[in-house]
Amino acid sequence: MKVLIIGGGIGGLTAALCLHGAGMEVVVCESVPEIKPLGVGINLLPHSMRVLSRVGLLERIAEHAVETAELSYFNKFGQRFWSEPRGQFAGYKWPQFSVHRGVLQYILFDAVRETLGPDAVRTNHHLDHFEQNDEGVVAHFVDRATGEMIHEERADLLVGADGINSVVRQQLYPDEGPPIYSENVLYRGTTMMPPFLAGNVMAMIGSMQQKMVVYPIAKPDVDGRVLTNWVGNLNEGQSTLTARDWNREADKDRLLDLYKTWQFDWLDVPQMMAGSGKVYEFPMSDRNPLDRWTFGRVTLLGDAAHPMYPIGSNGASQAILDADALTRALTSTTDPLDALTAYDRERVPATAKVVLQNRAKGPDQILDLMEARFPTGFEKHEIPHDELAEVMDHYKRVAGFDVQSLNQLT
Ligand SMILES: Cc1cc2nc3c(=O)[nH]c(=O)nc-3n(C[C@H](O)[C@H](O)[C@H](O)COP(=O)(O)OP(=O)(O)OC[C@H]3O[C@@H](n4cnc5c(N)ncnc54)[C@H](O)[C@@H]3O)c2cc1C
Repeated sequence: MKVLIIGGGIGGLTAALCLHGAGMEVVVCESVPEIKPLGVGINLLPHSMRVLSRVGLLERIAEHAVETAELSYFNKFGQRFWSEPRGQFAGYKWPQFSVHRGVLQYILFDAVRETLGPDAVRTNHHLDHFEQNDEGVVAHFVDRATGEMIHEERADLLVGADGINSVVRQQLYPDEGPPIYSENVLYRGTTMMPPFLAGNVMAMIGSMQQKMVVYPIAKPDVDGRVLTNWVGNLNEGQSTLTARDWNREADKDRLLDLYKTWQFDWLDVPQMMAGSGKVYEFPMSDRNPLDRWTFGRVTLLGDAAHPMYPIGSNGASQAILDADALTRALTSTTDPLDALTAYDRERVPATAKVVLQNRAKGPDQILDLMEARFPTGFEKHEIPHDELAEVMDHYKRVAGFDVQSLNQLT
């Protein structure tokens, strides 16, 4: 059976590795002329590392990533009110990693070329449209720069892993319109700096009105400095930003002014921001969950299927879980069309819950809870541990990575 994957991002490349491992012929068509290390930090939770371990990438990722040991939450005065171990430090069979998105994409890209062959990923192939009948599916590609029709490819199945602005989804749902803007803008940067706290901590600071997420994404250099990813989240109301463009540059001076008082004894936020390279702005958006992704021989995967707010570190991980579920469905059912329906049945409701939880702030609800209750700070004995624990545990169950359930899997 031949599967055509549209999009060579995190989800598409993982699906290529999983499907090939299960004996299928796979071709990936990617819009950009050249895969470049774009993006900043991304997180791989233990449930997705289970999948990537099975395709043999645990060591390679470990070599380039930071193994996250702890997730901690702080108020805007830098007071810590929640801390929990993560990954293997929390008893999971698999680690949690923070890594540069471009580095991860390259690891996957190299692995696909090594195992599927050098021509398995065709760059500069932008999907224009597809059609399907009882015999198969035919996809038509253009050179995005010129609009010239360059190629058509036949396959038994087509998987749209073409991201938040998916052409496949648009053809399946022509009336849907653009992604839905959350009124929050994310400001993303990276800084080479000495490690903060224990050097393997992910820190969430502030409230959903003004937040900062900070975590290291690479090993220390010879001077002991680490590439540190930071994401400022500002509630900007109606913004002029509309397109979800991952690479638009932001006004760093304005940000420095907004965060100027966030100088803590464990991290100097303005100094970190000042030391960064370019800062990218990104309107935080998602789409309403769909009832179905599968139409005959065509289905969706990753951000094309369920774009979500980057809250709870789940965007890449859920795409990787889709790849695993799709492969399991196709190997456990003889009729591929039934398999796609089974994939839908498993993943559509599961990911819809995560999208909706993230809209309701996911685990970051505890930031707002503490801000509302203690706007001027708190005493240690006032921290409502049980209440915070309930929010955190609930999110793990919804997103499919509570330690007991996950560790039952092989
Ligand atoms: C340039 C870029 C930078 C990003 N940076 C970050 C980041 O810093 N942090 C973070 O958390 N998330 C980032 N993301 C999003 C993150 O990768 C996804 O949320 C998540 O990993 C799910 O992956 P995906 O494969 O579904 O989508 P994506 O990783 O978005 O991959 C989709 C792929 O499809 C390709 N594509 C799109 N349209 C077509 C078409 N018509 N034909 C063929 N190919 C097509 C795109 O070029 C892209 O390679 C970024 C995405 C992109 C594209």
